[in-house]
Amino acid sequence: MAPQPGEAEFPLKVELHVHMDGAARHQTILDVAATRGLIPHCKTIQDLKQEIVVSKPSTLDRLLHSFATFVPVFAGNRDAVYRLAYEFCEDCALQGITYAEARFSPHLLANTFEKPVYAPEPGNFSPRDVVTTVSEALKQGALDFNIKVKEILCCIRNFPEWSLEVAGLCREFRDSVVAIDVAGPEFLSGMDPTQCPHKLAFKEVEIAGLHRTAHASEVTSSEMIYEALDEYHVERIGHGYRSLDCEKVYQRLLKEGIHLETCPISSVFTGGAPNGKVIHPILRFAEDKANFSLNTDDPTVLDNTLTDDYLTAKEFGLSDDQITQSIFNAARSSFLPDEEKRLLVSELVTVYGDQW
Ligand SMILES: [Zn+2]
Repeated sequence: MAPQPGEAEFPLKVELHVHMDGAARHQTILDVAATRGLIPHCKTIQDLKQEIVVSKPSTLDRLLHSFATFVPVFAGNRDAVYRLAYEFCEDCALQGITYAEARFSPHLLANTFEKPVYAPEPGNFSPRDVVTTVSEALKQGALDFNIKVKEILCCIRNFPEWSLEVAGLCREFRDSVVAIDVAGPEFLSGMDPTQCPHKLAFKEVEIAGLHRTAHASEVTSSEMIYEALDEYHVERIGHGYRSLDCEKVYQRLLKEGIHLETCPISSVFTGGAPNGKVIHPILRFAEDKANFSLNTDDPTVLDNTLTDDYLTAKEFGLSDDQITQSIFNAARSSFLPDEEKRLLVSELVTVYGDQW
């Protein structure tokens, strides 16, 4: 079979920003939903896609609504969570992704609350059980498909009561978990760092010697960047498109070499960076030699592969060289230990040469 456009140019990839709980295969959602009697009105892949795939520029809230439809299929079910994580590895390998950092919220896949957010009913599958299950599945998947995967655990902005437990899980599972993140609807905490549970969780993780990234300035103001850098002490920013609203904050990102995990297709569909006549933020990042990578974000909802995102970046105006550079940026800004990072970069060098 002839390779898809984009596959031949970029055979080896690195992905830093993908929500594993937003990367389920459509077929798997249907299979598991059928066994649990969920989303009964979706019988075919086409029905399901109509329900959850965001196919035109929309809002971040619309994306979050799709999650509420399909995450319940996995939430609270060990076998389903295992399958989700295991297939994630196979999908990486099929796309030529040699290293991925898979992020997820342990709490959104658990059911040990009186009113679980996504699980259909309460049960005894705890956030800790979720991390145990995902870690086992990723370990087996990485072995079977010959790739490397690490985990990033997400706090959720509108559930501050979970964050300290997330920090504890990061520390406990530090063999497989490399970092903490904060995701969900975007708004400034505005709380003092000594009071805000998210900021306290980030602090705890930093003291433990683990890494930090945060969703910021995807759809709201550049103010979020200051909070992420100065109060969450992040080393990378998820998205960051709106940093361009404030030249001062943008220049700081450039000067400090803060890595921006950009997601081309997602940026259009969330309204984070509408694809209009103006220059797309990712093209500006590339032209200014900012430290950025290209990522899929939520393949279940966006129905995209990483190659689709590279091709979309090309439509924004990025050159093949700029895309290759972004793959090396991702490797160098990954949260792997130094020696493993060096090996990852040299793996890329064997494919793309050493000029990057
Ligand atoms: Zn994200």
